[in-house]
Formats: sequence, structure tokens, C-alpha cells
Amino acid sequence: MAWFKKERKPRVSQRARLEIPKDAWDKCESCGHVDIRERFERELNVCPNCGHHRRFSAEEYVELLSDGGTWRELNGNLRPQDPLGFEHYLDRAKAAQSKTGQLDAIYTGLGRLEGIPIHLGVMNFAFMGGSMGSVVGERIARLAKRSADKGVPLITVCASGGARMQEGVLSLMQMAKTSTAIAEMKREGVPFLTVLTNPTTGGVSASFAMQGDVILAEPGALIGFAGQRVIKQTIGQDLPEGFQTAEFLLEHGQIDDVVPRGSLRETLTRLLRHMLGHKMEALASGGRSDG
Ligand SMILES: [Zn+2]
Repeated sequence: MAWFKKERKPRVSQRARLEIPKDAWDKCESCGHVDIRERFERELNVCPNCGHHRRFSAEEYVELLSDGGTWRELNGNLRPQDPLGFEHYLDRAKAAQSKTGQLDAIYTGLGRLEGIPIHLGVMNFAFMGGSMGSVVGERIARLAKRSADKGVPLITVCASGGARMQEGVLSLMQMAKTSTAIAEMKREGVPFLTVLTNPTTGGVSASFAMQGDVILAEPGALIGFAGQRVIKQTIGQDLPEGFQTAEFLLEHGQIDDVVPRGSLRETLTRLLRHMLGHKMEALASGGRSDG
């Protein structure tokens, strides 16, 4: 007779049953809000509580701003050289290459955005801080020239710490090279849109990033040429609070709008439709865009 005996179930510890994988949670570094990681991801890495824009990878921007299956990379085989024999440069480049699976710090290519053919350049901050050396400059210049030739609008998503110091003056020359190619595009009347993400600084902010027909920025992005301390030492004046943020630049007429990541695709599409006008139809139906 066992009616007074409790039947023993195998014990499952409370802890084991409630265990949630540690990486399922994520915490906003701006407001401290804790949420499931999936929620952050669904919001395109924007905090659902305070709207803080966290880093979004170059691959994610490519996916966000091109229609599925339309993206094709161009000039991805260009790789950095070491013309100055700068110590450890190629070792560092090699490490960045194996970390990112890319040969240098920008993706350039073609795709479609809501059916509109586009050229897209997305800087990869994960590759040596998105620094602009000869390869980044060359890829942008080639893409802009292609835009000028084919009449396909260009969108660049910028994220950069500035010029690549290991290439010295050759890095600085990329400002002139990209600017020349973009000027050619503008002569042809081909739209150029830029999106400045956090951070967009140095030689990139001093060249193509700020040359867009329309310049958009993500909320809270740091945008500027030199660091605050350097400017303060140079001009010998105190600087206003937050003077290098997207919002400050908008208020002072340096950029055209601050657009949350979730509206980026829609905003860029609307701008392109508006700017292309009657050229839209011919462009979207193939025309000069292929090849
Ligand atoms: Zn937050």
C-alpha cells in the first residue's frame, strides 16, 4: 500500500527551468533600459525606450537600403598597399580583413531601392575605424563616376574616424579624388544623397560626406572634422555644448535632416523619386542602369 507515500517526480531545479540564455538580454548604454535582445534587433538596434541609435553594421545597412536579392558589390577586390612602408600597417589591415571578411573599409555596389536603381556605398567602421585610405577613396570615386556615366543616383552611408594615417598624404589626397568624381556626377545632374552615422569625422566629413545634394544624419550621430580639444586649442575659445551632434548641425543649417533609422529607407526613396522626377520611369525600367 503506497497511498500515503508521495510519488516522487524527478527533481528539476528551479534554476534550470527558468534559465534564460544570458545573451537573450541587452541593455541600452544610454538610458540603461533592459529588454530582450530580439526587441533591440527588431527596432534596427535602436533603443525602444529612449531612441538611442546603437551601431548598425555595414552589412545591415546594405540589407536595409537595398531590395532583397538586388545587391551586387563592385570593386570589392581592391586591397590596401603599403606605399610608405608604415610599420605594422599590413598586419593591421590583415587582421581587419579576417575580422570583417572585407578587403577594406567600404562596400560599394549597385542595387535597387523600392525598385529604383541605385549605387550604394556603405562604410564599415569595424574595419580600422572606417578610415579612408586609397582603397576607400578609389571605390567611392569609381562608384561616383559610374553614377555620372549611367545616371544612377548615389547613396553613401558614412561612418569614419577620418583619414588612414598609415597612408599619410595619400589618404589626404582621397578627399580631392572623391570630390572630383562627385563634381562630375553633379555636372551630369545625378542625385547624390549622404547619410551620416555615428561617427562621421575627419577626412570623410571634409569631403564626400558633406557634398550630398541632401545630407541626412542619424539621431545623436557625432559629426565633425577635428576633435573638440583640438578645435579649442586652435581657436582659443570655449565651444558650445554638443556642437558636433547631428541635432546641433541641423539647427545651424549644416545638414538637411535628422532621420531615425526606421524611416531611412522611406525617406531616401521619397527623396529619390522627387529628385529624379520624369527620369524615374526610364531608370526604373532598366535603361542606362544595367551592366
Ligand atoms: Zn535607451
